[in-house]
Amino acid sequence: MPMNFEIIDTHCHMDMTELRSDFDGVLDRSMRAGITDFVIPGYVRSGWDRILEICIQKPYLHPCLGLHPAYLDKHRDEDIEELRELSSRELVAIGEIGLDFQKGRKCEREQQELFEQQLFIAEESRLPVLLHVRKGHDQVLATLRRKRFNNGGIVHGFNGSRQQADHYVKLGFKLGYGGTLTYDRARRIRKLAAELPLTSIVLETDAPDMSLAGRRGEINSPEYLPEILDTLVSLRPETKEEIAAQTTTNARLILGLDCAREI
Ligand SMILES: [Zn+2]
Repeated sequence: MPMNFEIIDTHCHMDMTELRSDFDGVLDRSMRAGITDFVIPGYVRSGWDRILEICIQKPYLHPCLGLHPAYLDKHRDEDIEELRELSSRELVAIGEIGLDFQKGRKCEREQQELFEQQLFIAEESRLPVLLHVRKGHDQVLATLRRKRFNNGGIVHGFNGSRQQADHYVKLGFKLGYGGTLTYDRARRIRKLAAELPLTSIVLETDAPDMSLAGRRGEINSPEYLPEILDTLVSLRPETKEEIAAQTTTNARLILGLDCAREI
């Protein structure tokens, strides 16, 4: 039976070991569940080759390369130069990049510098960015404004305030919602996902991390994205078809994905 919706996982780490062992199985089940496209974000230099390799083989896997702020000790100075060179490949975005102050503000200067260098590469190569931000939204917003970054992108796993959400939207960003949404106790995040304009939301799993409610301890997978869609449907006034169609359009527009791809 054909699916009555098509959705996009805007953040899943298909290159990671947990998903590699059943790579084709995961993709097959995901596509049968209605997922048409998968965005594969980079986080350390050593993972980029694998990402490019799997994305070349399958046109519905979209590569995104970047140096993640939580892995500072893994990055070398020359990684930035390589990112600049690789940005001419068919990337859909630079990322995941940003600021992570989950464990305090140590290495703030290094994180900020790394973030700005990568924003510059995105600017130069006219690509959007995939942001990873923990406890640093105001600083990221201030940086985007100061650098006059106009390419937009996605704030992955958005967990900020309504005001911060509005600022991101004004700067051309979409907000990524994933597994956290499926937990009843995530009241603040659920309330925001219910109230934001639908044009500002995209879906993501962050697989293999971020297990869904009811699947704790399980390896997360893009095949569970419809459960995140269902949660959003339960929170919002629009129909499932409307939410699927709009979030898919949002993802296609912001990442420049082909709108009429036949799979
Ligand atoms: Zn991630």
